[in-house]
Amino acid sequence: MLDTEIIRRNFPILERQVYGKPLVYLDNAATTQKPVCVVDKIAEGYYHTNANVHRGVHFLSQEATEAHEQARRKVQQFIGAEHAHEIIFTRGTTEAINLVVSSYGEEFLKEGDEVIISQMEHHANIVPWQLLQNRKKIVLKVVPVLDNGELDMEAYRNIFSEKTRLVSLTHVSNVLGTINPVKEIIAEAHKREVPVMIDGAQAVPHSAVDVKDLDVDFYVFSAHKMYGPTGIGVLYGKEKWLEKMPPYQGGGEMIGHVSFEKTTFNELPYKFEAGTPDYIGTTAFATALDYISSVGIDRIEVHENELLRYATNRLLEIENIRIFGTAPHKSSVISFQVGDIHHYDMGMLLDKLGIAVRTGHHCAQPLMERLGVEGTVRASFAMYNTKEEADAFVAAVKRVSQMF
Ligand code: PLP
Repeated sequence: MLDTEIIRRNFPILERQVYGKPLVYLDNAATTQKPVCVVDKIAEGYYHTNANVHRGVHFLSQEATEAHEQARRKVQQFIGAEHAHEIIFTRGTTEAINLVVSSYGEEFLKEGDEVIISQMEHHANIVPWQLLQNRKKIVLKVVPVLDNGELDMEAYRNIFSEKTRLVSLTHVSNVLGTINPVKEIIAEAHKREVPVMIDGAQAVPHSAVDVKDLDVDFYVFSAHKMYGPTGIGVLYGKEKWLEKMPPYQGGGEMIGHVSFEKTTFNELPYKFEAGTPDYIGTTAFATALDYISSVGIDRIEVHENELLRYATNRLLEIENIRIFGTAPHKSSVISFQVGDIHHYDMGMLLDKLGIAVRTGHHCAQPLMERLGVEGTVRASFAMYNTKEEADAFVAAVKRVSQMF
């Protein structure tokens, strides 16, 4: 296990008390807390290096530009991308998916073309496609989920047709924790010459991801779920696709030359980054990546897996508990329900005991329908969580269960 005593010193928020109880923060799949170095980097950026990037000849602007571009290179290294210009900064996973839907959709999809998604997608990987469906009359094909929370891979293999133009699936389910076999998913699609986008929002914070090894065409994730600032996300795209795709938004930065007769567009990655980027945020994100690397992503994975195993076994001591998602390859997310206690009541009462969990449909209503529930209670772990916190969590769930 990691030395959480040292790690927790970097996260002052974890020392807070709520309702007179020590805070046990288990809502990490929604967003993680930020270490001091990341918050300091944001303050330092605004105090000492703030100047708009790319447009200035002056010293500060060049310094800010260098920090922003260095952050891009850091992301490139972190996910093993071939080129820095394949890293597009967005506001988050949601915007990155919308970018691909809009731009790839504009260039490569027409009426009747099929896009494969799954029953376990976050709304961010469903609704943008439905909006495109309204505009372009594309067809969405949905891979079902098995009872244990795994994707039905046989159904996946059979869902392709002559008209399949893209596969867009999540790497890790934000509800079930299922780790999908993305390498196999991508290879199956490539056999049929179909490109693949993977939603890595719940994967990159927890285990090493190498986009070149996966041979994935597009990969998206959010900084705020990996100890970085809110409002920063990443679209990784293979150069060969990004070059062919039209700009997503128009404005400053993304142009080559503007005239009323003909406007040309900037090269990658700027073609997809209209307007002033959050260069303070990207720089702080780079600090978050350094922080993760200093702890070690593999060690984080081992630590979180141990917490998952421990908390799951202890929760199973509770009568009438139902854990959703029992796939053998699982990330550190536990969705559950006890008897017929409403998830909202459970969440509210856990909160009064200092335990922060998430309740509801987790932006995955089609999956809730598949599970036959309106919502679940979800606890999710990060590198700073401890076995003592897992014990406090289980004890609180037991206590609430006994109240009903
Ligand atoms: N995809 C998955 C699997 C998620 O868990 C989330 C957030 O919970 C998102 C997409 C959306 O991320 P964001 O809100 O940072 O854009």
